[in-house]
Amino acid sequence: MPEERSRGWGVAIHGGAGAIPADIPPARREACIISLTAILEHGAQLLSRGSHALDVVEELVIRLENEPLFNAGRGAVFTSAGEHELEAAIMDGSTLDCGAVAGIRTVRNPIRLARCVMQQTKHIMLAGAGAEEYAESIGLERVEPSWFDTDHRRAELERYTEAPALLEQEGSTVGAVVRDSAGRLAAATSTGGMTGKMPGRIGDTPLVGCGTYADGGCAVSCTGHGESFVRHVAAHEVAVLARSSGRGAEGAVEQVLEAMPDSVGGIIAIDRESAPVALFSSRGMYRGRADSTGLFETLIHGEA
Ligand code: ASP
Repeated sequence: MPEERSRGWGVAIHGGAGAIPADIPPARREACIISLTAILEHGAQLLSRGSHALDVVEELVIRLENEPLFNAGRGAVFTSAGEHELEAAIMDGSTLDCGAVAGIRTVRNPIRLARCVMQQTKHIMLAGAGAEEYAESIGLERVEPSWFDTDHRRAELERYTEAPALLEQEGSTVGAVVRDSAGRLAAATSTGGMTGKMPGRIGDTPLVGCGTYADGGCAVSCTGHGESFVRHVAAHEVAVLARSSGRGAEGAVEQVLEAMPDSVGGIIAIDRESAPVALFSSRGMYRGRADSTGLFETLIHGEA
């Protein structure tokens, strides 16, 4: 058998999984693909120049947060009270260092704050007013809460308020997983949560091991129905199975998605030697994958 070629660096990004309609308006489809492609290209460039996995996941998630099409940073969904409460987490697989934030209303890029919590405090997670005071104290850019508003998300909240059970959440949390050219792994995820969530609700994204996780063997970022990902401690479960099952990240993601409710969402993951993985059980997932062997794709439904 020919020896398996080392794949070098690899990256996967997502802009969320959920009930993305097959007939998504062509203009939105095109805008999402253009945006994912530009962000993925940037990641590929950084990685081919030797950037550190942790820097790359942060940079890619900042770009995804800045993109109003997706439910993170600008473009985040509204709570039932018509406000935004943002969440993010980042994790370095080489060191198991991690940082997370929740209940953020005025920090432009929650993922930057999560990284500062990780590297500059003795804690892992900060929430609410304390997190925002900390952001202010270290000079991170803050914005008016209304800066995160978009018409698309306001219309979604109106539909949810009229008929909560009928709103099929499109889901467009963002995330990135990376293996850099030195084999280091990292993961980052950022979200506004679920449309119409109760004020104070915290989902899987900032809970290390649930929506975001990285260790020396696998980096994982999840998207979809947060409560399910928390119940299954999904991101950590993927990392454990990737190591113990012998099926790598792909087999692990398949197994974890199968164990969760139908249509729950999607997971991106990368292990030490295989192509990056982006799989989902929902109707679609905004996603992209690239690696040093020339793989490069951005997709929304099961086009592949
Ligand atoms: N998992 C996120 C949450 O439950 C939502 C999403 O991924 O769309 O907050």
